[in-house]
Amino acid sequence: GKLVFRFGDGKADGEAGMKNLLGGKGANLAEMANLGLPVPPGFTITTEVCTNFYKNDRTYPKALGPDVDAALSEVGRIVGATFGDAGNPLLVSVRSGARASMPGMMDTVLNLGLNDETVEGLAKHAKDRRFAYDSYRRFIHMYSDVVLGVEHHQFEDILGEYKDEKAFGLDTDLTAEDWLKVIAKYKACVEKATGKPFPQDVKEQLWGAIGAVFQSWMSARANTYRRLHNIPEDWGTAVNVQAMVFGNLGDSSATGVAFTRNPSTGTHELYGEFLVNAQGEDVVAGIRTPQNITEAARIEAGSKAPSLEKLMPETYTELVRTFAQLEKHYRDMQDMEFTIQSGKLWMLQTRAGKRTAKAALKIAVDLANEGLISREEAVRRIDPASLDQLLHPTLDPSAKRDIIGQGLPASPGAASGEIVFDSDEAEKLKEQGRNVILVRVETSPEDIHGMHAAEGILTTRGGMTSHAAVVARGMGKPCVSGAGSIRVDYRQATLTALGTVLKKGDIVTIDGSTGQVMKGAVPTIKPELSGDFAIIMEWADKARRMKVRANAETPLDARAARDFGAEGIGLCRTEHMFFEADRIVAMREMILASDEKGRRAALAKILPMQRQDFIELFEIMAGLPVTIRLLDPPLHEFLPHSEEEIAEVAAVIGVTPDVLRARVADLHEFNPMLGHRGVRLAVSYPEIAEMQARAIFEAAAEVGRKTGAPPIPEVMVPLVASKAELDIVRDRIVAIADEVRKETGAKLDYLVGTMIELPRAALRAAEIAQTAEFFSFGTNDLTQTTFGISRDDSARFLGEYTAKGVFKTDPFVTLDTEGVGELVQIAADRGRSTRADIKLGICGEHGGDPASIQFCETVGLDYVSCSPFRVPIARLAAAQSAL
Ligand code: PEP
Ligand code: MG
Repeated sequence: GKLVFRFGDGKADGEAGMKNLLGGKGANLAEMANLGLPVPPGFTITTEVCTNFYKNDRTYPKALGPDVDAALSEVGRIVGATFGDAGNPLLVSVRSGARASMPGMMDTVLNLGLNDETVEGLAKHAKDRRFAYDSYRRFIHMYSDVVLGVEHHQFEDILGEYKDEKAFGLDTDLTAEDWLKVIAKYKACVEKATGKPFPQDVKEQLWGAIGAVFQSWMSARANTYRRLHNIPEDWGTAVNVQAMVFGNLGDSSATGVAFTRNPSTGTHELYGEFLVNAQGEDVVAGIRTPQNITEAARIEAGSKAPSLEKLMPETYTELVRTFAQLEKHYRDMQDMEFTIQSGKLWMLQTRAGKRTAKAALKIAVDLANEGLISREEAVRRIDPASLDQLLHPTLDPSAKRDIIGQGLPASPGAASGEIVFDSDEAEKLKEQGRNVILVRVETSPEDIHGMHAAEGILTTRGGMTSHAAVVARGMGKPCVSGAGSIRVDYRQATLTALGTVLKKGDIVTIDGSTGQVMKGAVPTIKPELSGDFAIIMEWADKARRMKVRANAETPLDARAARDFGAEGIGLCRTEHMFFEADRIVAMREMILASDEKGRRAALAKILPMQRQDFIELFEIMAGLPVTIRLLDPPLHEFLPHSEEEIAEVAAVIGVTPDVLRARVADLHEFNPMLGHRGVRLAVSYPEIAEMQARAIFEAAAEVGRKTGAPPIPEVMVPLVASKAELDIVRDRIVAIADEVRKETGAKLDYLVGTMIELPRAALRAAEIAQTAEFFSFGTNDLTQTTFGISRDDSARFLGEYTAKGVFKTDPFVTLDTEGVGELVQIAADRGRSTRADIKLGICGEHGGDPASIQFCETVGLDYVSCSPFRVPIARLAAAQSAL
């Protein structure tokens, strides 16, 4: 196919829909050119060239060279300059641009095409020698850093020393002659570091930069980022080569970044920063503190530096108009980069802006209300997993705060942890289970893993669009950036704030919603889920077909589940109810009893407590369905194990330690997960199932008597493999129900069903459905038994399996739709063939995982059930899979 796509001069070969081939940046540059917006001309080398580069031993197709040459002369024709020409040189930027923006990759080389000769041409043409030399030294620095691998700080050190020598404070103090001297030092430094002079051949420069972009696709940082974000390696990156426009051409020039809406809150306001007489990356790098674009923002920030609105009113008006046009065109909040060269506006990039979950909700609701998108579209636009961010804690307003610093509220949420100054260390401590706050002067893509490991990030330099801020928002981590009054000393591993010196390991709290930095741990509280969140949930609920229930057994969980909008309980794991102090004794007596009579006596003690559990659950669920599962784990789990515990328990129960020890040994199993558990317990000890059934039905009768609306319990039998074993247990349950009906005179309705957790159950589902009135897929066990991989011991190799690509994702997190999913499909089909209206649900962990929920929709399950805190995520994911 075509290797090079051109854009500029009001037209383009590509368009926004071609992100896969042109990368996000290239596709949107083409789109903006097609819209007639002021885009410097350029061209995009496709992602396929990158993919083939790696397939073919890091080589390019033959046609690429001539295609690039032709595109470059076309760019030169449009701007009236020639690449490498000593009289009037064309300069270009070279940028990477993958399908999804990827901070792990080579970013940008600016001013490419400058050498000792062309720099003079630039000086003459721009009538500004200082500008030309300033551009050249930037180019040598950037190119040597990202293409030649000379360390960034070497250039900073040279410049710093030069400024010290001359007693200069700011870069702007340097004259043309000063920059010439710095350039000579830079070149010497490059030659020393690489053994070769800085490349003077502009073609060599260009191909060096193009090669560096492609190489950066496989850099360690990019690989880490891809792994964390599930980006396939074979996507590749595109390369964008574009005519330079100069934001550093004096005081009527500037460069900036802006969002059409506030990316933290979603508020509809132009939000952005710029720097006068500066070049592209100065803003993002956080080296100088940028100015506000709008006057309103300047006033709110209390900043003295003038806004763009005041400084360049005409360009500002054009900027506002262009931003509005882009947002309307893309029907989404845009994140844009622009440069103003001598008062003229140039657009360098636009893309859908990254935003916090809170902002995403507000923007989606607002865009729908503004008529730009439908309500369904609004629901589709929210990433269900991102709702997690909203469950992030905020600081308890009544808690005491020892504020030691203030930065920008770069990413919301509050977090406490030990201070660390180094990303590797952050990762190491996290692995030890410790909570850390990563403190850096500023972050770079090299810190991604540390940011990932940290609870929160604190930087002392950089704005709201600095690397730290953007990446933290994407990760949903609290971040305070640009806390300028805090001083970091990496060598001593200390930070100094308000005269207090804190060492590595000391605890701080940051509040990414206000920018506050506090000493010590400050208590936090959970946020309220109202406003835009509630609106999106309401729209989602209209769109979804599947019901969402919660896995809950305690009244606390059940209430939380209802608050989050659960429509019933899909799994009440009754064993959790037996671990409470007063019950475990009776439970142990039951297990230790030598005969059925003894067991029944012990169970009689548990009955009233269990009945009370169910009464509370039924009352909280107020008529919503409640699925109660009979005892599942092997009995030995309830017995003590250490000698100390055995002695203690023996005394309480009134047996000798020997008797107890013998019973523990007797119940020991090598593979308890495949052992005497689930329905097998009910077959061996029907009196346990009978007690539980009695507790359920008596509770239902009681609640029915009190409220006039008896609940309809769903009694669920775990780990069934055959109809015969389910029949045995069902007969007991029915008999108990009949007894309770007689005893109480209550009219009892109930269902008896089974979990599908074993491959055999899935295969024999047609038969099992003759007895079972519902199936609930226990995909935790079903995954375990289908793969033959232990739920409890697999961590030690699962990581390697996903890293090596054997598994795309951990099958205990995201349902293996191919294998386990096929069993689910088979069971659903066969179950329905027997009982057309059989109720089908899922209650494994996958019930709260968006990708797995999508699969449940395709199978046509009636509901998913998940932990209470995932209920909102499941509601949204269920809606999206129905849309
Ligand atoms: C399951 O196996 O998926 C399930 C929900 O049961 P548990 O996790 O309690 O084994
Ligand atoms: Mg199970």
